[in-house]
Amino acid sequence: MSEWTRIRYDRPAERVARITLARPEAANAQDYLMLSELNEAFDEASRDDNIRVIVLAADGNHFSSGHDLRDDPDMADVEPVGTQCHFEAEGAEGYMAREAEMYVGLCWRWRNIPKPTIASVQGKVIAGGLMLVWPMDMIVCSDDATFSDPVVAFGVNGHEYFVHPYEAGQRLAKDMLFTGRSISASEALQHGMVNRVVAREQLESETLALASHIAKRPMFGLTLAKQSVNNSMDAMGMYTSIQSAFGLHHVGHNHNRLVHGSLVDPEGVHVIRSEA
Ligand code: ZN
Repeated sequence: MSEWTRIRYDRPAERVARITLARPEAANAQDYLMLSELNEAFDEASRDDNIRVIVLAADGNHFSSGHDLRDDPDMADVEPVGTQCHFEAEGAEGYMAREAEMYVGLCWRWRNIPKPTIASVQGKVIAGGLMLVWPMDMIVCSDDATFSDPVVAFGVNGHEYFVHPYEAGQRLAKDMLFTGRSISASEALQHGMVNRVVAREQLESETLALASHIAKRPMFGLTLAKQSVNNSMDAMGMYTSIQSAFGLHHVGHNHNRLVHGSLVDPEGVHVIRSEA
């Protein structure tokens, strides 16, 4: 096991692994290192024959404020696990490859782990934060949880793992994207976007109770059930939709480069802050 600095890993119940985002001082903002460590931890839990259910939790008041773009993310910090290449190439090529590897590629990899996964969510989940929550199979959240993807203000279509219509339904997806507003835990429950809403102080115990309940079932049955639901989503075009939207996402990034000289519209941050 590597020396992880952005996450923690433990086994809080029989047959249950828990990965915890451990950067609360930055509201669990995700840099490339955190994403890489998360992937290593998911691999560890996947390959452990004594683990049947994986929980993804977070330290602190907020699950995740999204991608940490304060420092220019550096692929030298991480070991790619996909087949992307030319990460430092000029033009659209390098940045598209980096987002394909670190964002869409990892999300899709985690979505297809052949064991049940549960997100345990409190506080704010913003943009890239949803890219950790939505690839999980089930979502338990506290009643103070809120979910938003405000990045249309940056002149792109939404965050890179574009599954909003599948996760929230098309009306709420458009509402979230057009307005950038946060939806509450109860609204998310009403739209089938989360499985359970619990009191903040019961989030950990309720999540582990659910994980332990699931973990009594045979591994292969759980794997077959998961794959069958995932196949149904794929039959509705989920993967093709993600790839289609990812292409449009990069039309947005490259439009911004041509017009503003940056990947995102610099006015976006003022729009978002004025509505916070
Ligand atoms: Zn992007």
